[in-house]
Amino acid sequence: MQTPKTHSLMIDIDEVLGEHVAAFRPYAARAVGADVEDLYDNPDWDFEAWFGDSGIDWRDVHDAAIRDGMLLIMDPRPGAVETVQELYQHYKIVICTSRTPDPVSVSDTVDWLNNHQIYYNDLLFTSDKSVVDVSWRIDDSLHQIKAFASKGQKFVIWDAPYNQVAIGPRVRSWDDVAKVFIPSSLMVVG
Ligand SMILES: [Mg+2]
Repeated sequence: MQTPKTHSLMIDIDEVLGEHVAAFRPYAARAVGADVEDLYDNPDWDFEAWFGDSGIDWRDVHDAAIRDGMLLIMDPRPGAVETVQELYQHYKIVICTSRTPDPVSVSDTVDWLNNHQIYYNDLLFTSDKSVVDVSWRIDDSLHQIKAFASKGQKFVIWDAPYNQVAIGPRVRSWDDVAKVFIPSSLMVVG
C-alpha cells in the first residue's frame, strides 16, 4: 500500500538519530578526571550520574562541548540515515530537538543533518514538542513522552533506562523503527 505523505513523523535528534551520550562522554570524563570507560553508557537524561558530587555543573561542560563542536562529531545511530531516507519517501519528516537554539547549536545541527544526508521537511527547536502537530513522534525524553501522552498524541518510545516508567510502544534500533513505520506496516500504526 502506498503511504500518503500526508502522514507526518516527528523524530528527535539526541539519542534517537545520533549518539549524543557517546559524544559527550569524553568531555565529561575530562571534566571529572575519570577514564571514558568508567562512565557507563546511559546516565540519566541530566548526566548527574556522571558528575555526582564533583561540584561541576554538567550544563557548563555540555555548553563548552557544544562550543567545541561536539554536535558535529556525534555519530548517527546505526541505520538512522538509511531508514530516514526511506521514511522520507512516505512521510513528512519533522526533525525536532529541545537543544537550546543558540547560533552554534542551530548551525551545527543543520550541518550535521546535511553532512549525514538525513532528509527532512521541517527542522524545529522547541522545549515542548507536544505543541507540534504531527501524526507520530519518536523520542527518548521522559518529559516529552509524558506530554505526548497527556494530550493523547501518538508516539513511539526510543527505549532508554531513564524512560522505563513510560507506557507505550518501544523501539530499540532503527531496524525497529523501519518495522513499525514502513508502508507495509502502516495498517498496524495508522
Ligand atoms: Mg533525545
